[in-house]
Amino acid sequence: MPSLPPLVEPADEITVAEVRRYSRHLIIPDFAMNGQKRLKNAKVLAIGAGGLGSPVLMYLAAAGVGTIGIVEFDTVDESNLQRQIIHGASDVGRPKAESAREKIQEINPLINVVIHEVRLDSSNALDVLAPYDLIVDGTDNFPTRYLVNDACVLLNKPYVWGSIFRFEGQASVFWSEHGPCYRCLYPEPPPPGMVPSCAEGGVLGVLCASIGSIQATEAIKVLTGIGDPLVGRLMVYDALDMTYRTVRVQKDPECPICGKNPTVTELIDYEAFCGEVSDEALEAVIGHTLTARELKDMKDNGEDFYLVDVREPAENEIVKIPDSVLIPKDEILFGRALADLPQDKPIVLYCKSGIRSAEALASLHAAGFGNAKHVQGGVLAWINQIDPELPAY
Ligand code: ZN
Repeated sequence: MPSLPPLVEPADEITVAEVRRYSRHLIIPDFAMNGQKRLKNAKVLAIGAGGLGSPVLMYLAAAGVGTIGIVEFDTVDESNLQRQIIHGASDVGRPKAESAREKIQEINPLINVVIHEVRLDSSNALDVLAPYDLIVDGTDNFPTRYLVNDACVLLNKPYVWGSIFRFEGQASVFWSEHGPCYRCLYPEPPPPGMVPSCAEGGVLGVLCASIGSIQATEAIKVLTGIGDPLVGRLMVYDALDMTYRTVRVQKDPECPICGKNPTVTELIDYEAFCGEVSDEALEAVIGHTLTARELKDMKDNGEDFYLVDVREPAENEIVKIPDSVLIPKDEILFGRALADLPQDKPIVLYCKSGIRSAEALASLHAAGFGNAKHVQGGVLAWINQIDPELPAY
C-alpha cells in the first residue's frame, strides 16, 4: 500500500508551549511543524481503556493528538493492573474512563479529552463515532469488533484494530475506502467460546505494549499521511519467537458491508450475529475439534469415518464437503437420527461455521458416541482453506 494523503488538515498555528513540548517531533524532517499541526487538529476515539487502550491513549496524548475520546463503561479491577498500565492501584473500583482521562490529562494538559461512559451498541455507535477522524479499537469481544467495523465502514472512517491473546497479537488498519475491512478478513465471527477471551485464556501483560504501540504508530501515520500504513496488511506478532510478519489482506468483492453489493446497509444486532452456544457445546469441542486441513488429511489418507453435514437441506444444496451425509442438527438433538449412525467408525460433524456442529456434538457425546468430532469453522473453513472454488454463502 503506497502512502495515503494525510487524514487531517493542519491547525492554523502552534503555541510556544507546544513548540517546547513537541520539539523532538518538530525536528524530524518528514514530520516537522506540519505533522504536529495535523495531530493538533486530529480527533481520535479509543474504544476501550484497557490493555491496548492504555498505551494507545498515553502515547497519543503525549504525541499531541488534539482531541481524544474514550469509550469505556467498565470500572478498574485489580486483575486489570497486570497490563492496563493507564490505571493504578488507587484507581481500583473507579470508572476506567475517568481514571484514563486523569492520567492522560496529567501527561498532556494541552489536549482535550472527552469521555463516553456508555456500552457501545447499534443504537449509539454511529453518533459516538461520527465526530472523530479515526477510531482505535482495543476491545476483546467479537460483537463490539463487528459493530465498530460496520460503523466505520458506514461512516467511511479509518479504524486501527488490534487484538492480543496469550503470547500473540495482531494489528491492522481497516479503511474500506482504501482497502479491506474487518469483515473482509474475518467474514464470520468464530463460534463463541472457540476463541477464548483474555479473561478466559490469559495474556502476557507486556503484549499490550507491543500491539498498542503499533496501533498508536499507525494512527499517527494515517492522521499525518506519513509512511505506508497497515491498510491491506495484517501484522502478526509472536512474542515467544520474537517475530513480526505481515500478511496481505485483500478487499473481498463479496464482503457483505464493503463489497460491490452490500447486504448490510445499517448496524445490526451484533450479539445475535456472533451467536449463542451452550456450555455443553463448549465442553464437547475440547479435544474433539478438527481443522479443515486435518479433515482433508484424513480423507487423503483414506481413513474410514462418517462425515455428517448437520445443516439444513437448502444449505447442503448450495455447497457441501464431498462424501458427506446430510443429517440436520435437530434430528441429532432430538435423538431421531441416532439409531442410523454407525457404531463402528468415528463420526465427524460439520455445519456452516462450527456453532451448530458443536451443539450436535454435545448430543452425540451424551448419547455415547464419545469419539465423535466436529470441524472448526465448518464448510466455510473448508472453502477458505481447502477449496476456494466452492461457493461460500
Ligand atoms: Zn469488507
